[in-house]
Amino acid sequence: MVASLAKEYQRELAAAGTFVALEELTAEIGDEFGRQLCENELLDRAKRAANVEQCECPECGLLCARGEPEPAVLQGLRGQLAFNQPSYFCRRCRRSFFPSGRSLGVAGTQRSDAENVAEDGLGGEQSGQLRDGRRGDA
Ligand SMILES: [Zn+2]
Repeated sequence: MVASLAKEYQRELAAAGTFVALEELTAEIGDEFGRQLCENELLDRAKRAANVEQCECPECGLLCARGEPEPAVLQGLRGQLAFNQPSYFCRRCRRSFFPSGRSLGVAGTQRSDAENVAEDGLGGEQSGQLRDGRRGDA
């Protein structure tokens, strides 16, 4: 893996004229590699979570049908992570919601969940901030 990265970044590595420049470049490469690895895993988890046809409304408990997945962006330690999260619509509460972040192994992507990150699974160790691309909820 390192050898293939070295080959891919051969020119940039050779052009790094100082130790600091070399370290900065390799840290950037490592960060991007980590970001992509994380994003791929999130995409996989979201895909698996999206197979769930129905989900209980967090407000009233009604079983709700799955809607269209919505794009979400997580601000991670190494940059933004984009994936599509499954969404559901509760007819009783007349609101769409996203299942708990537990199904993705991360805190939910609703704004209110972002404040409760510590209560939701991995939250305690998660320094990234949650942000989604939704407009004001209907
Ligand atoms: Zn509901």
